[in-house]
Amino acid sequence: MANSNITKPINQLTQTNPNIKEYRCPYCNRILFKGNVKKINMACQHCQKFIKADEHELLNIQTDKT
Ligand SMILES: [Zn+2]
Repeated sequence: MANSNITKPINQLTQTNPNIKEYRCPYCNRILFKGNVKKINMACQHCQKFIKADEHELLNIQTDKT
């Protein structure tokens, strides 16, 4: 049994890069995509609402504040 070079798990990719952030829809709170962008102008693929925000707004969503 010399199978020490078996493929490594690839799913570490999700959390290893600190520059990759998760962006969530402010309306339905689901993940839109992962990446690193300054501004977002897109329609949510889940709730179809149009999102126009910069990353500050999206990363600091406070749903308990009205
Ligand atoms: Zn949404």
